Amino acid sequence: MDLGIAGRWALVCGASKGLGYGCARALAGEGVNLVINARTASALEAAADRIRGETGVQVVAVACDITTPQGRDESLAACPQLDILINNAGGPPPGDFRNWTREHWIAALDANMLTPIELIKATVDGMIARRFGRIVNITSSSVKAPIEVLGLSNGARSGLTGFVAGLARKTVEHNVTINNLLPGQFDTDRLRGTTAAAAKAQGKTFEELAAQRRQLIPARRFGHETEFGQMCAYLCSAQTSYFTGQNVLLDGGAYPGTY
Ligand code: NAD
Repeated sequence: MDLGIAGRWALVCGASKGLGYGCARALAGEGVNLVINARTASALEAAADRIRGETGVQVVAVACDITTPQGRDESLAACPQLDILINNAGGPPPGDFRNWTREHWIAALDANMLTPIELIKATVDGMIARRFGRIVNITSSSVKAPIEVLGLSNGARSGLTGFVAGLARKTVEHNVTINNLLPGQFDTDRLRGTTAAAAKAQGKTFEELAAQRRQLIPARRFGHETEFGQMCAYLCSAQTSYFTGQNVLLDGGAYPGTY
């Protein structure tokens, strides 16, 4: 299927690796030009080179922290016309809520709620004026089924989800859609890091715990960033103008509910 978005411009946040990279690569595969950001310049430049080499699209790399006003300004300034916005940043750390201070909460809200809202605010009116826009927020399966130790994530991402639910119904008449893509367990550095920490705490090896976790997923495997990116690209396609305000769960069947 031709997704009908070749030649458009996308800003993909947190895109040097993992799920953000998967989204950037899939969009580039459809001929979408990119501005990508991440905090580490060397990893980001390597990702940009790889995408350019594999797809031939234009890729502008902006090394920055997207949770800062400066990072957002630099990323937006690098994009000649923003048609597609993929919101993404690192997730908050796990822990016990008794140990979290106001500062922990503000950091989580900044990264996983307020930064996406700021970027939507900066871009949505231009999309409306041009009568095309696709916004995808990478959130988490924890929005549908909370993960106890990830309380900061559960809370901050639910705030974003609630805000988006309202706005997405205001923009769709202008062919601007806003949806959330909810990863279950994907084999990225973040998952490997949290699995290693949990394995250590439980006195298991990494591979023992990873195997146990894979067994609990009906697909019996972790997801791959490529399949996550392909779903993201479809949500950004010309075909999805009637699809907005939805929470799309990609988790190998792990969520046990019917609805
Ligand atoms: P990752 O650590 O593999 O990659 C994160 C990417 O974002 C990197 O490119 C990193 O440089 C960049 N990044 C992080 N913070 C940034 C910032 N402040 N500014 C700019 N770039 C930043 O992580 P991932 O697994 O791809 O996860 C992406 C998001 O999805 C995270 O919020 C994570 O919590 C969430 N998530 C992941 C999973 C999973 O299984 N991997 C599950 C649920 C939710």
